[in-house]
Amino acid sequence: MERDERLRAGLDELGLPYTEEQLDQLHRYYDMLIETNRVMNLTAITEYDDVCVKHWLDSLCLVKILSEEEKASSLRLVDVGTGAGFPGIPLKIFFPHWSITLMDALGKRVRFLERVASELNLDNTECIHGRAEELARKEEYREQYDLCVSRAVTRMASLTELCVPLVKVGGSFVAYKAADCGEEVAEAGNAIIKLGGKIVSKETFTVPQSNLGRTLIRVKKAAFTDRKYPRGGGKPMKDPIR
Ligand code: SAH
Repeated sequence: MERDERLRAGLDELGLPYTEEQLDQLHRYYDMLIETNRVMNLTAITEYDDVCVKHWLDSLCLVKILSEEEKASSLRLVDVGTGAGFPGIPLKIFFPHWSITLMDALGKRVRFLERVASELNLDNTECIHGRAEELARKEEYREQYDLCVSRAVTRMASLTELCVPLVKVGGSFVAYKAADCGEEVAEAGNAIIKLGGKIVSKETFTVPQSNLGRTLIRVKKAAFTDRKYPRGGGKPMKDPIR
């Protein structure tokens, strides 16, 4: 079986056209991930097919909810708590005309991402070490992004406080959540409103080439975020907005 059979089938299912060069970028990313994973904790998923499905195709599920205009525009994307680069790096590989900012609180992961960006020749890719709630208080990051994405970082009520302040009015925050996230999302209802957001869609899919469920929640930024948010000192996590 050819190495990329499942990956190619998955990309076809997502309706994402690709070049051999893009697959080659994924191969180099995979090699760096596995090699670096020996000396630091980047991922528990290491089999090639599993990485293709659970990291890459899952990250790319965003395409299912993007408008044609978003896909084609030179939008500015921020990935909060990107870890080893998910979903930000696969998105940059398939939407090379986007500008992306990868944020993570762990310095050694950010240094890994800088090496990946350089090795894969990713332009307009910024890797920032810091906590999103601190960065979102700075003018250079606050309300600067068309799109904010985040996967597997924290519960929706807390995550909203980290992410919505980074988004421009008119832009969106998309949370990658489990298929059964109803309770978590309900609990975040007030936080979303207080931060200037509004849930505009909640769609559940199966990740291509798997039976894994994935829900993407799109929060549209309807109004500027009050300057009192995000709160510092770990408050968004310890004491989520109610
Ligand atoms: N998004 C990746 C990583 C998830 S692990 C994936 O889906 O595989 C969660 C990551 O979020 C960790 O790398 C952690 O360092 C980072 N993180 C947690 N809280 C954060 C915060 N407040 N600001 C920025 N990064 C944070």
